[in-house]
Amino acid sequence: MDFEKLIEEQRKFFRGHSTKKLEFRRTQLRKLRDLLRTHENELYSAIEADFGKSKFDTYSTELSFIFREIDFYLKKLPAWIRPKKVRTGLSSLPGKSRIYYEPLGCCLIIGAWNYPYQLTLLPAIAALAAGNTVIIKPSELTPECAALMARMINDSFSKEYFHVVPGGAEETTELLKYHFDHVFFTGSPRVGRMIYEAAARHLTPVTLELGGKSPAIVCETANLEVAARRIVWGKFLNAGQTCIAPDYLLVHKKVHQRLLELMEEQILQFDYRSGSTHYPGIINRRHFDRLKALIDPGKIYRGHSQNIGKINTPDDTDYARMTGRINEQELFIAPTMLVNVEWEDPCMQEEIFGPILPVLTFEDLDKLLARLIALEKPLAAYLFSNNRQEQQKFTGQFSFGGGCINDTLMHISNTYLPFGGVGKSGMGHYHGRFGFETFSHAKSVLHKANWGEPSIKYPPYSKGKLKWIRRLLS
Ligand code: NAD
Repeated sequence: MDFEKLIEEQRKFFRGHSTKKLEFRRTQLRKLRDLLRTHENELYSAIEADFGKSKFDTYSTELSFIFREIDFYLKKLPAWIRPKKVRTGLSSLPGKSRIYYEPLGCCLIIGAWNYPYQLTLLPAIAALAAGNTVIIKPSELTPECAALMARMINDSFSKEYFHVVPGGAEETTELLKYHFDHVFFTGSPRVGRMIYEAAARHLTPVTLELGGKSPAIVCETANLEVAARRIVWGKFLNAGQTCIAPDYLLVHKKVHQRLLELMEEQILQFDYRSGSTHYPGIINRRHFDRLKALIDPGKIYRGHSQNIGKINTPDDTDYARMTGRINEQELFIAPTMLVNVEWEDPCMQEEIFGPILPVLTFEDLDKLLARLIALEKPLAAYLFSNNRQEQQKFTGQFSFGGGCINDTLMHISNTYLPFGGVGKSGMGHYHGRFGFETFSHAKSVLHKANWGEPSIKYPPYSKGKLKWIRRLLS
């Protein structure tokens, strides 16, 4: 495909100003919503074929986000695109100051595979709503989803407005040779760096939605039943292949054993077995082998003794038999908690991005926070505590992209909260109003009256003028 021509056509279309009209934008958003509704069953089938994700998970963690975002934008857009009046300083009176949110132009959105619809379409909704043209490059690791998105969108929208380019590293590298007005990337820090470098050649602004090691901390004061349920859910959803999943667990020594027991019960209750409809496989052989190498068999938490054999059925209905299990053919790795883990262990060096949960203990929250602060800033962090001081220390001292107190993952579901990383976990954010601002330029305009201007700002200057200007500008 001739990318240069595609980008040029998009830029030409953008310069025609139609994307700036409110009704045009709303019509396109409604069209996208109808398209997704019409193809809903195909969307479920494609993701199931790619990595066995269930209809329930696809709806609750992908499509519902997309439909909600479209509805939110349809409702809020008229107010957001209206020029915003702000105060005018004395030195510029008489005059009026306004902020105009104008679209940037032609935007490139590069997606990751783990939530293939949400991670490409949520930024696309924000970009289109903000009045831009969009090219999506979905991940090649979910080929069915990428092909379906290309078919759906490319058949329904004109190429010069909204287009999907399937492909992998080669296509992305080729696309990035050209000038875009914004590049929005979701993926690993390793590739994020390459994207940033390529965009820098054109001085193109970027949003980088990256990953990292996101901790979950459980204090002595926490409600342990709640913590166990919410951590197990957040960690093993999508078989741990979620950018904001708790990567590792830090538990107060006094409640460590009890929490492990409760989590073990929870894992059994949630029924994460091979072939179960709500527990997908690992995306590919490379990631499967990488994850397998992180499991130290001597450190697998096998369950507390009373539970072993409690459920008298074979195989994986028993926690002790299930944990650490892998199936090479199905690329299946059972939920696996690792204990007696040291900070130097291989599983603590890089983002895990799979169903392996290292568990470490601590005794002093202050010392723990000091240690965490010295590491790279994570994309997410979670604290389980019922003590206000502990909660304040967590939010006040520890820098992370976003997170929860007494829950996991759910901060992502609030349209009123920005979603994005900080430091090595990313730059920029989106969701709701924050996405609209990411894909807009806030243009400042001072509209000055032609009368009533004090002449003291103009030369020639004098001591008297200086006296007055000091008063006026202080
Ligand atoms: P990835 O970085 O391997 O791939 C992301 C995208 O980059 C894909 O579209 C891929 O085709 C492209 N790509 C890959 N190699 C490239 C290269 N050499 N040159 C140019 N483009 C290239 O990431 P992934 O495996 O798809 O996703 C996993 C990572 O993404 C994890 O680190 C995870 O934490 C992160 N992630 C972050 C978020 C977030 O919102 N912050 C969401 C999901 C995933």
